[in-house]
Amino acid sequence: MVVVGAGPAGSAAAIAALRTRPGARVLLLDRADFPRDKPCGDGVAPHALDVLAGLGVHGLVDDRTPVGTLELGFGRLTLVRPMRRAAWVVPRLVFDARLVDAAVSAGADLRRGHVRAVEILPDRVVLDGTVEARVAIGADGVHSVLRRAVGLGTRRRWALALRAYAPTPRDFRGRQVIRFGRTRRPSYAWSFDLGDGWSNVGYGEVLDASLGAPGRRLMLAQLEELLPGSIGGAVGWRGHHLPLSSARWHQPDGRVLLAGDAASLVNPLTGEGIYYAVASGACAGRSAVEAGDRDAGGLHRRAVRRLLSAHLAGTTAISHALNGPGVLEAGLRAARADQDVFDDLVEVGLGRGVVTPRILGGLVSHAFG
Ligand SMILES: Cc1cc2nc3c(=O)[nH]c(=O)nc-3n(C[C@H](O)[C@H](O)[C@H](O)COP(=O)(O)OP(=O)(O)OC[C@H]3O[C@@H](n4cnc5c(N)ncnc54)[C@H](O)[C@@H]3O)c2cc1C
Repeated sequence: MVVVGAGPAGSAAAIAALRTRPGARVLLLDRADFPRDKPCGDGVAPHALDVLAGLGVHGLVDDRTPVGTLELGFGRLTLVRPMRRAAWVVPRLVFDARLVDAAVSAGADLRRGHVRAVEILPDRVVLDGTVEARVAIGADGVHSVLRRAVGLGTRRRWALALRAYAPTPRDFRGRQVIRFGRTRRPSYAWSFDLGDGWSNVGYGEVLDASLGAPGRRLMLAQLEELLPGSIGGAVGWRGHHLPLSSARWHQPDGRVLLAGDAASLVNPLTGEGIYYAVASGACAGRSAVEAGDRDAGGLHRRAVRRLLSAHLAGTTAISHALNGPGVLEAGLRAARADQDVFDDLVEVGLGRGVVTPRILGGLVSHAFG
């Protein structure tokens, strides 16, 4: 099999395939040499590490500082709470290279290659006329060539985000700070402490055709307004699109399996995508080797749906509800009042949590201030 893209989705796919069938021939192709940067908030949810531990990958963050506190704010409404499980903030330059090393140690054949053409034949997939495989996994990110090849195209909901690295202000040490935007919604600015004196800072918003795409100047102004003083001394500005997930997630039958951003699996509430990348990558890797003569695409579709259907329905419903007045405020008030509601919401935002009765009860009881 061939895996296109060696980000978290592709590395997880390669590792899962090799754990399922040791000795399988797995070619891992990426257009970049590693280590390579990827514009990201660098927030790694513990859920992603759970998936990787299940694949036998340990120690990825042993030398990093866990971040146990989450601060959320909207206007003058703020809350600061401990997370049930600490998260991690790891530059993608480091995290992705470690994952690629784990894939190579597991037996993947890593090669540099920029895939441009995909031919899907009855018995195989051919890439650029030269690489042939029974199954191809498209883990080639946001502008996936393999996604286009199976006809899924670009009709999805998008966000745009910009990040940089800046010295951590004293008040933000040991925290992941998120401040939701008031004028352009849904949007938020973040400051995630890396634990070494620096933070990943950034701003992102869901794209709305009626508002037009925000330019860099506007995004920087939003960031400065929401997190004043956080971008002094910032370096390494880079922006990127995020393909947001929806309850109507689809994977076609056939020999091309999609994972991560290529499968449009980014949480529409938080922009978190690393957990979904490794989780869907692991499903794809397993399905690719287990399919045999059966339809690999169908197998992968069912595996991802078993894992994420209820979650995707919940995040889609909440993301639409957030367009209504007062819903974000009600959620923040409910999370401020009750650690259990906060914990449930963190599961929805970072893992595969569902809308619990506690969340619904909290929203209703805090709906009117
Ligand atoms: C600014 C920003 C902040 C974010 N913050 C967070 C966060 O804090 N936490 C979080 O969990 N998620 C965050 N996300 C989302 C997260 O970055 C993505 O969801 C995640 O990187 C998806 O992983 P992936 O493996 O699917 O794709 P990628 O990490 O994009 O990897 C795709 C790989 O494919 C390669 N590739 C692409 N095209 C080709 C081709 N044609 N041929 C060969 N190789 C190719 C690329 O070089 C790349 O290495 C953020 C996104 C943005 C833009």
